[in-house]
Amino acid sequence: MTKVEAPVAKNEYYDVTFEDLTHDGAGVAKIDGFPIFVANGLPGEKAKIKVIKVKKGYGYGRLIELYEPSPDRVDAPCPIYKQCGGCQLQHLSYEGQLKAKHKHVKEVLARIGKIEDVIVHPVLGMGNPWRYRNKAQVPVGEREGGLVAGFYQQRSHEIINMEACLIQQGMNDVVVQTVKKICEKYGVKAYNEETHKGVLRHIMARYGAVTKEVMVVLITRTEDLPHKKKIVQEIIENVPNVKSIIQNINPKRTNVIMGDETKVLWGAEYIYDYIGDIKFAISARSFYQVNPEQTKVLYEKALEYAQLTGEETVIDAYCGIGTISLFLAKKAKKVYGVEVVPEAIEDAKRNAKLNGIDNAEFAVGEAEVVIPKWYEQGIQADCIVVDPPRKGCDEALLQTIIAMKPKRVVYVSCNPATLARDLRILEDGGYKTIEVQPVDMFPHTNHVENVAKLVLKEETSCFGS
Ligand code: SAH
Repeated sequence: MTKVEAPVAKNEYYDVTFEDLTHDGAGVAKIDGFPIFVANGLPGEKAKIKVIKVKKGYGYGRLIELYEPSPDRVDAPCPIYKQCGGCQLQHLSYEGQLKAKHKHVKEVLARIGKIEDVIVHPVLGMGNPWRYRNKAQVPVGEREGGLVAGFYQQRSHEIINMEACLIQQGMNDVVVQTVKKICEKYGVKAYNEETHKGVLRHIMARYGAVTKEVMVVLITRTEDLPHKKKIVQEIIENVPNVKSIIQNINPKRTNVIMGDETKVLWGAEYIYDYIGDIKFAISARSFYQVNPEQTKVLYEKALEYAQLTGEETVIDAYCGIGTISLFLAKKAKKVYGVEVVPEAIEDAKRNAKLNGIDNAEFAVGEAEVVIPKWYEQGIQADCIVVDPPRKGCDEALLQTIIAMKPKRVVYVSCNPATLARDLRILEDGGYKTIEVQPVDMFPHTNHVENVAKLVLKEETSCFGS
């Protein structure tokens, strides 16, 4: 058998035209049909590249010289964009990002799910796609006796100091810088991963975009934090609108950020925020969507696709702290939420009370175990909403949906590939995907969220009504 040689060689230079963009923001050039992935290349651009790695069937290259930049190319506004790795698409105009994400969703639905006969709407982007993240968790290190707070350089454990992160709410930058200076003033030692010594591991900031309330969390290795009282006092004096100062203790050798023990050092255990007109209490450890403005856009679309009249029973699978459930509850007769993390369900119940919502019921457990039980007990949903993690829905859950036959399924997804796979299973089980709405929850990164509307096939004659 003859071995097929790659038409390129490592360390050689080539002139190429980028044809495509991968979902994680690399340009794709083809040399005699052999794809080479090049960070920072954009479709349509002509460039000189150097091949740096050759694998079976594809390779990687480095951009050496750009001969013809794309009209969609922009200067990344963040000075540490290339070192940080948190964003992948800052060199592409925002319009260009939205178009690329739309193309990606359409392609993945067709390729993985064989779903072509479906409307994929243009991606709903942000008016101002900067300063949107409401939560910052920044590792702390030491340089020449002083503290640095920033991010780990790619493929290393060195912390690069960061003065500002342009996708963070401005207040989170203020919190991180202020707390870093205060801790430095009182001689707090940064945690050192290698020696497992030192105290301060991470500074975390949470910000209620609507309420403007601020939470500061000091994540420490030891319970003992030198000059704790003075540090707390200075945070109160210097961080505007701070409502809660928390210490979380993580004594383990781990890259998991938070430990099991959480103490209120000052103020409230929670801050509050709103998505639409629903109020949420957010504690240091609770899950809360990081882009609340776009979360509202996403949930309103999910609610529209659920087509509720007030008479329906709805199941919200993978409900987290009940965010979607509470949105649905206002328009449905009854909502059942299920989620595997017990603390999230406690939050969901408290959030329901906080909003005077009494037609939502929550259960702890795996959706693929709890929902089949509900089905056996005779609970019949008119609509099921699912919002699974990246790996998508468990097949047992999809089969239960197919057996239960709710008229509508609304699928909220953070991973187009598993969405496409699961839509295929539901389509084979009697559903039709009517439309998919991508929403840009994480501008400048390679992520894209989607919400899909499916109806039972016997209903398709009147879909859109
Ligand atoms: N709908 C929520 C949370 C979505 S994130 C929101 O919009 O805020 C996905 C959630 O699924 C997480 O809270 C995770 O804990 C939960 N989860 C993961 N696997 C699960 C399973 N098998 N059954 C139920 N919930 C699960």
